[in-house]
Amino acid sequence: MKVLKFGGTSVGSVNSIKTLLEIVKAEVDGGEKPVVVLSAMSGVTNLLIKMAEEAAKGNEFTAHLAELQKRHFDVVEALLDVQNRNPAFTRLKIHFNQLEELLQGVLTLRELTLKTRDLILSFGERCSTLMVSKIAAQHFGSALFVDASEVVKTDSAFGQAKVNTELSDILIRNLYQSSNDKVLFVTGFIASNDDNQITTLGRGGSDYTAAIFGAALNAGEIQIWTDVNGMMTADPRMVKKAFPLDELTYTEAMELSYFGAKVIYPPTMIPAFLKKIPISIKNTFEPEFKGTIIQHECRASNLAIKGISSINNISIINLVGSGMVGKSGFSGRLFSLLAREQINVILITQSSSEHSITFAVQPDDADRAKKIIEQEFELELLANKLDPIVIEENLAILAVVGENMKQTPGVSGKLFHALGRNGVNVRAIAQGSSEYNISVIISEYDLAKALNAVHDAFFVDLYKTLHAFCLGTGNIGKTLFKQLCGHAGFLREENGIQVKIVGISNTRKMVFDTDGISLDNWQDTLEQSEEKADLRTFIDTMKDMNLPNCVFVDNTASPTPIEYYKEVFDSAISVVTCNKIGNSGSYERYKSFKDSARKHGVDFFYETNVGAGLPIIRTLKDLMNSGDRVQKIEAILSGTISFIFNQFKGDANFHDVVKMAQEKGYTEPDPRDDLRGTDFMRKILILARDAGLSLEASDVEIESILPKASLEAATVEDFYASLKAEDAYFAGLKNKAKSEGKVLRYIGKLEGGKANITLQMVDENHPFFTLSGSDNIISFTTDRYKERPLVVKGPGAGAEVTAAGVFADLINVGAN
Ligand code: ADP
Ligand code: ASP
Ligand code: MG
Repeated sequence: MKVLKFGGTSVGSVNSIKTLLEIVKAEVDGGEKPVVVLSAMSGVTNLLIKMAEEAAKGNEFTAHLAELQKRHFDVVEALLDVQNRNPAFTRLKIHFNQLEELLQGVLTLRELTLKTRDLILSFGERCSTLMVSKIAAQHFGSALFVDASEVVKTDSAFGQAKVNTELSDILIRNLYQSSNDKVLFVTGFIASNDDNQITTLGRGGSDYTAAIFGAALNAGEIQIWTDVNGMMTADPRMVKKAFPLDELTYTEAMELSYFGAKVIYPPTMIPAFLKKIPISIKNTFEPEFKGTIIQHECRASNLAIKGISSINNISIINLVGSGMVGKSGFSGRLFSLLAREQINVILITQSSSEHSITFAVQPDDADRAKKIIEQEFELELLANKLDPIVIEENLAILAVVGENMKQTPGVSGKLFHALGRNGVNVRAIAQGSSEYNISVIISEYDLAKALNAVHDAFFVDLYKTLHAFCLGTGNIGKTLFKQLCGHAGFLREENGIQVKIVGISNTRKMVFDTDGISLDNWQDTLEQSEEKADLRTFIDTMKDMNLPNCVFVDNTASPTPIEYYKEVFDSAISVVTCNKIGNSGSYERYKSFKDSARKHGVDFFYETNVGAGLPIIRTLKDLMNSGDRVQKIEAILSGTISFIFNQFKGDANFHDVVKMAQEKGYTEPDPRDDLRGTDFMRKILILARDAGLSLEASDVEIESILPKASLEAATVEDFYASLKAEDAYFAGLKNKAKSEGKVLRYIGKLEGGKANITLQMVDENHPFFTLSGSDNIISFTTDRYKERPLVVKGPGAGAEVTAAGVFADLINVGAN
């Protein structure tokens, strides 16, 4: 025999009740009559509480009452044949009249006791069960309505009564035996005390009713039918990637539900555990899905944890003071006091020195707890052995749960890494001695972010989501989006990373979307956005969205975003940028970026600052990190100048070569911006700093390629004229090189703590001799690579390779 429990949404609408009846009917047709336990229709218990509380304040409740009545009557009309409706209407109407009288009483007295409240709440389950049992009777004849308060007996702790199992078991068995083989439709949640006054089993308590019946009747299985596909790895409303678990042990289910997984009420596990009755959680809206089975033993699983649950809106109370050290009875006194006053303590942590105790309670209990502690420990407080009691509010508990944690090292490391990297401050930690759970207390504000980050960290088989905020939609920005769009599938499957672009801004417009901006038509989305671009607002929105695994991508060449980098790091957000202006500004600023990123455990990646997508910064970092020491760096890092000198041979004159470079789009509008070497200087400066030198821009010596007249020409036209006029000078350089079997190269060098850029003539033995096209080249001479330097060479400019470099940086953030 099975017990089938259907929750609020399962009895909440005409369609779901139809499905419910099919599920029950299939069971009956299978030859075994189940016991069916029902909740109130979805939302009804909350509505009853609201009406009662409003009435106690003297407010009207009739509109709500009419709404309640209508919801039930609509179902009766839709699902009962005309001839069967009247008896159902009459019985329901009697209930609604009683309810009205009760509420009227509350309104008159302006008083709502817990006892009256339970009585009022009982109408939710009584009405729904009565209604469904009538419909069931019409479908398959043998349905019997059972008011559980007649058989489930409890103490008088209204609101959350404790069940008298022995007595209830007997009463339930007697009832079942005398039910003449009918299908019982039982009200969940409600019970009664010795004086037959109505009590309730706590919010969500219908699950518990099912387990009490299951255990009393030695059921083969307890099925909890709800609106999700089982117990999931996290609350699906908070974590979109949560997925249903096949199996859980009673302990795991208990821990997950205790820490907030609302899908099953924690005490439900106790009767089932004692009788070893499996509980399955199934979805009324997808009945074929196998759901979750909770039982004594589970198959071995390779998951370190089973799930993550959370309770939001809790308060903590801190007790700190020397008075606690070594006083064996102290915590005993404290917690018996709280128990006596019926204050439910959700979690406790105590420092090893016993210098402090922190415990979590519902916010409603916090003030009362503080008051009674102050009374109990008045002397200690007076003698300063205990510091004044402090309540902290707006906190949440996040717990990772699973029996495998015991044998898996590194679980807490992973948890705290994920929290730390996302800037989530941990206020307190508790690890159950069973090692089935680790719980942390964090700010409620960070809860959604923390849950998603921790979920990503533990369930790596899924994929990790990076939330990227992108600035700049020029060549590089555009190309990056195109590349991301083209590789989304590959990234997810092969790298386990999903990049969601959640914010885009150019200089005109900006747009945000937590679910990710579609990269197929981001241009239209941005164009149609109502929000005018504003960097301050962009940064604030990014911070306020408070998403996990967040990256700020600066694809501009503007100095403005740089001003915000530090603030971005301080918000525990990584930065990926191709913008060199930041790193080549003052050394102090460069250092402040590095320091803030390190302090907050986030990444600062700027591979494309030097040589576009070529692995230059990364190579240098790897050399340094592995203990190598750079002796010398030589490099050609300007694609434009490289191109010009590669073409400047044979009969070509310098003027024509520069002109051609400009026509091919290799130069800035004023080619002197390239030829002056400023951009090259920035790259050498960044390399020098990454190599450990605290240089400023003015420390890099630049030998000019151009004669004074060309440098000082007023316009671009004049500049070109001056190149013609200086032809002899350039030809002289070219011919001299040629006669010595050499080529001209504009080379940056870092050696002995100094950096310079000079025009050199190199022979065929030099690694830079063969450089072609607009390629970049860099050679590292280090303690390890001193005979033959380590050389990186390839295309060092262009939107495709630069965007690819930004892309790689982004993926590297994802990998951390
Ligand atoms: P019922 O009315 O059927 O008893 P509840 O609302 O009490 O349903 O519980 C089901 C809800 O629990 C789901 O809709 C889901 O939003 C929420 N929930 C929270 N945490 C979890 C979790 N870890 N797994 C599944 N559901 C969860
Ligand atoms: N109707 C009750 C509640 O909402 C009991 C339950 O649904 O399990 O808390
Ligand atoms: Mg429930």
